[in-house]
Amino acid sequence: MNAKDLASFRKVLLSVREKLAGNVNSMEDEALKKSRQDAAGDLSNVPFHMADLGTDNYERDLMIHLIQNGEEELKSIDAALEKLEDKTFGICEICDKKITKARLMARPYAKLCLGCQQMEELEAGAQ
Ligand SMILES: [Zn+2]
Repeated sequence: MNAKDLASFRKVLLSVREKLAGNVNSMEDEALKKSRQDAAGDLSNVPFHMADLGTDNYERDLMIHLIQNGEEELKSIDAALEKLEDKTFGICEICDKKITKARLMARPYAKLCLGCQQMEELEAGAQ
């Protein structure tokens, strides 16, 4: 994954995180409003190189999923942002292989590759 892709994922994660935080905590303080404005201003300066990433529909679909899953997903987004800093973003936590870009576009905060995710779900289902 190149730097532009990573920058695009970072923008989406930050943007979605801001909106989700607003939903999870109904209270909005000045700091949050300010960072939201900064994020919005920043977004317009960054060209998106992935067809769907950053579009209203794309973010809306993500938001619907996130609101349904609440705080747990917020933590996943924080973890994904930390991984962007650590340069481990897009690497499966179990097998260390790269998570496909298509999967990351669907779930930018995915922690596992598709194979490991399916194994986890199988194991969870078996319990
Ligand atoms: Zn894996």
